[in-house]
Amino acid sequence: MMAWMEPARHSVAVVVRGPDGTFLAVRRPSDPRDPLGGLWGLPAITLREGEDEPAAAARAGRAKLGVDLEVGPKIGEKTADRGEYVLRLSDYEATVVSGTPSVPQADTSLTQYVSCMFTSDPAVLEEAAGRGSLCAQIFLEAAAAAEQDRVADFRRRAGLPHLIDAHTHFMPQRLLAAVWAYFDAAGPLIGRPWPIRYRAGEDSRLEVLRGFGVRAFTSMLYPHKPGMARSLNDWSAGFAARTPDCLHTATFFAEPGAAADVRRALEQGAVVFKCHLQVGGFDPNDPLLDDVWGLLAEAGTPVVTHCGSGPVPGAHTGPGPAGVLLARHPRLRLVVAHLGMPEYSEFLGLAERYDRVMLDTTMAFTGFAESTDPFPRAELPRLEALGDRVLLGTDYPNIPYSYADALEALEETGLGAGWLRAVCHDNAATLFGI
Ligand SMILES: [Zn+2]
Repeated sequence: MMAWMEPARHSVAVVVRGPDGTFLAVRRPSDPRDPLGGLWGLPAITLREGEDEPAAAARAGRAKLGVDLEVGPKIGEKTADRGEYVLRLSDYEATVVSGTPSVPQADTSLTQYVSCMFTSDPAVLEEAAGRGSLCAQIFLEAAAAAEQDRVADFRRRAGLPHLIDAHTHFMPQRLLAAVWAYFDAAGPLIGRPWPIRYRAGEDSRLEVLRGFGVRAFTSMLYPHKPGMARSLNDWSAGFAARTPDCLHTATFFAEPGAAADVRRALEQGAVVFKCHLQVGGFDPNDPLLDDVWGLLAEAGTPVVTHCGSGPVPGAHTGPGPAGVLLARHPRLRLVVAHLGMPEYSEFLGLAERYDRVMLDTTMAFTGFAESTDPFPRAELPRLEALGDRVLLGTDYPNIPYSYADALEALEETGLGAGWLRAVCHDNAATLFGI
């Protein structure tokens, strides 16, 4: 066919930058004939005869948002065959020169939007991108590339060819979907809005993590009720078998079969365990777990344990129950998740007292955590002194900010490149023999 005979449509979208790294998202009206109806996207407009892209981008500001825009550089361009026409679309950077964006505007000859918001969460565009929105795809690809560059810059500054992340979550998709729904609803154990940043399919989540230079990571999963641990462990064994860079992770619950579950997981090859005292709601000193801790202490297997009282205290969180446990099993390789947030000082004390206790950095020092549970700056020297017993953890993918934010937050402690190399790679490499 003669391609130039096909009807073509040429459009532009604007990424209107707001304060603090935000951008403007707009929601299209619900319309059963519009595959993007009801979804969040970027303001876009079709070029008029003879109009150039920057001029159309400026017109989108006036006609769809009621603002004057200063149009910046082009971010990218994509083309797609829509069946009835071929769409060519470009995204442009823009800032508001005058006015405040508001929707809908009066011109009903154009698609108007039903709501708009400044957000720092690119994931609001995932659904539209998945349904073929070119402007959302361009934006997300550019954002992902920029984030990968930030992580690479961090690694360069610290002298880290690779990272090892001891606290990442991979679990059966149905369970992960339930966890995400819980975060979306800001459930009682969460306590505040928590937009999940990396809400994608498993393959792309793995690809993104590897793209950050992470050469080994875990698949933290955890039961919230009895009778689940064994099937979770089976899933995790399968995941580790098909994911060579995953450190085989297992879990347990305070239930009569706990020791058998743990023995079985060790035989399957688990090298690290996850214990969630907040979600599980059990006492680490429950007699049902006596043999579990004994087995794990004897095997020397690290147990990453959510034992601090953040973000919301549980009946058995805090340094008290963990301290009793360590007094009974002083050889236990307990890894205190989140640096024990918010009881940082007390958990540092346990690590100083028991030389096999370690801590992971998950969420610590990020703006998100500091706003409610700031790490006491006076304790930085203690954290520095424990530099060979701190592991990088992130909670990827269930975080409400970017992976680069978590790494830069560690750097901003000022503990230096040597500390960062130990924490972000070398300690875990030694612990897991990689
Ligand atoms: Zn976690």
